[in-house]
Amino acid sequence: MFNKRIKIKELLQCEATGQKVIVMGWVRTFRNNQFIALNDGSTNHNIQIVVELGLLDDATLKRITTGAALKVVGKVIPSLGKGQKIEIKATTIEVLGDCDAEKYPLQPKKHSLEFLREIAHLRFRTNTFGAVFRVRHALAFAIHQFFNNKGFLYIHTPIITASDAEGAGETFRVTTLPLDGTAKRKDDGSIDFNEDFFGKSTNLTVSGQLEGELAATAFADIYTFGPTFRAENSNTARHLAEFWMIEPEMAFYDIEDNMNLAEEFIQYIIRYVIEHNREDIELLDARLAEEEKQKPQNERQEFGLLEKLQFVVENNFERITYTEAINILLNSPAYKKKKFKYDVQWGIDMQSEHERYLVEKHFKKPVIVRNYPAAIKAFYMRMNEGCEEGKETVAAMDILAPGIGEIVGGSQREERYDVLLNRMEKFNIPVEEMNWYLDTRRFGSVPHAGFGLGFERIVQFVTGMTNIRDVIPFARTPKNCEF
Ligand code: ATP
Ligand code: MN
Repeated sequence: MFNKRIKIKELLQCEATGQKVIVMGWVRTFRNNQFIALNDGSTNHNIQIVVELGLLDDATLKRITTGAALKVVGKVIPSLGKGQKIEIKATTIEVLGDCDAEKYPLQPKKHSLEFLREIAHLRFRTNTFGAVFRVRHALAFAIHQFFNNKGFLYIHTPIITASDAEGAGETFRVTTLPLDGTAKRKDDGSIDFNEDFFGKSTNLTVSGQLEGELAATAFADIYTFGPTFRAENSNTARHLAEFWMIEPEMAFYDIEDNMNLAEEFIQYIIRYVIEHNREDIELLDARLAEEEKQKPQNERQEFGLLEKLQFVVENNFERITYTEAINILLNSPAYKKKKFKYDVQWGIDMQSEHERYLVEKHFKKPVIVRNYPAAIKAFYMRMNEGCEEGKETVAAMDILAPGIGEIVGGSQREERYDVLLNRMEKFNIPVEEMNWYLDTRRFGSVPHAGFGLGFERIVQFVTGMTNIRDVIPFARTPKNCEF
């Protein structure tokens, strides 16, 4: 057996009693031909390996360079050095993989995030990205744990679909038809999708919600956690063409229950990371503080990362209606001084600058906005009784977070068959193709609700990374599909 190694994370919790251990990892630094800092990705901390004079010949010493992979056998002893309790006195060192220091793009110095994005295949080996992806993992695990504890069923909704949940386009087409112009056409000149693989036009999913609703009308509480694709040509710091979404869907829930679950859920997963990934968060906290220092005073965030996360788990989210949100904006100094680029009036789809004003300047905490104008929200959202500002609203809710804007979008769903049908016709949804969806309202329809949480948005929030490209291993964005 080759691998009997101890992980560095586990090793660092041990007492030094001269016990023999095997560690494997990659060299971060090698000082004075004597001290190796070795990292294996299990923690952002390195283990110090002490190489005594005469243990290795010159040729081997030269091969111990930043990035080289090593197998070290040695004894665990107390460390005299600063910042570590223990170290390993090496008895044998084997170079598993050489790393040409001249050509290795990761030097033991600070690299910019932009540069690291170009070498995303290597950036896992840096402190920052080590922390980001351990936190990303912990969040994913906490999400499954949260729902499992509550008896929710994990449902895998399809990735290839023939429906567009929002009816909004911006999908990636899936086809096996030739692209050289020889695909068979119908009499009217349009492509004949009868000839395509599925016998119809198909695309990558933009949301698993509609299928999630089908499962919720049998299991009551379900969630999805899978990849989602949107061909939106928006090159922002919070949009990806391929991202992961968590979509719980609950029968016997109204909008209030839905908001309560979403808030409890977000607080639970953040608390999990604070408890289990403390060191990673501390490292990211320091990184963010450094980044903030580069900004002018008035643009800096008030809270440090850990402070912000602690605040979020200890305080209730603010809850307001859309109408209240609009009134706050209309009465804001920012509006009066014409600081907003986009206009504010009842009926608008709030822009990112408006959402950020509400959470960052006005409330200074996460905010849940509910009861949006029916005209700007999806067909499946439940119509509210009565009107606001003389207009119809739906039981939709968005959660807005400081620094990110929208992280959750959800609603109580329209369970009344006639009302839903009416809405679908208004939105030009092809009703004949959606009979499977309407069946849930025909047969044992129940009040139900759900929401979608963009996974990368919450990873951004928890890690304090400013750009969404830095919280997914290999980002897919317009004109960029490397690795
Ligand atoms: P936005 O206004 O930010 O574009 P949206 O209204 O299009 O969001 P929804 O359709 O409600 O978003 O999707 C649910 C959640 O998925 C959002 O709250 C957000 O967290 C996330 N999300 C949406 N689009 C993207 C994207 N392109 N990249 C990453 N996450 C996204
Ligand atoms: Mn969008």
